[in-house]
Amino acid sequence: MICTHHRLFKLEPWLVRAVIPQGKIGVYVLYISGKPVYAGRSDEDLRSRLVAHASVKRAEYFGFGLYSDASRAFDIECALFHALEPCTTNLIHPASPKGSGRICVVCTEIRHLKNGPFRTT
Ligand SMILES: [Zn+2]
Repeated sequence: MICTHHRLFKLEPWLVRAVIPQGKIGVYVLYISGKPVYAGRSDEDLRSRLVAHASVKRAEYFGFGLYSDASRAFDIECALFHALEPCTTNLIHPASPKGSGRICVVCTEIRHLKNGPFRTT
């Protein structure tokens, strides 16, 4: 696994091609003015997804992580989606990888807390 979420790169097609190999599963976050604006994932080709974002100048910078399996990438995307929710423009919750039936661990935890012994309402 290559995880470079801590490092930001300028969102330019040539730079995306330079740092991300073709055909990799990965998660990314797009940034404008140093703030995260969008979190996403590709189960087929992260590079082409980011090149598409770069081509339309969707943001200024990107951070990413590459993963060997889509379920792991989904977990990371969910964590980012929930953590960044107040500032990102994502409208819908990440979808689990096709046919995986995987469930978001963060949503599961929130549901557990709401129904669990620490319920306050
Ligand atoms: Zn969730």
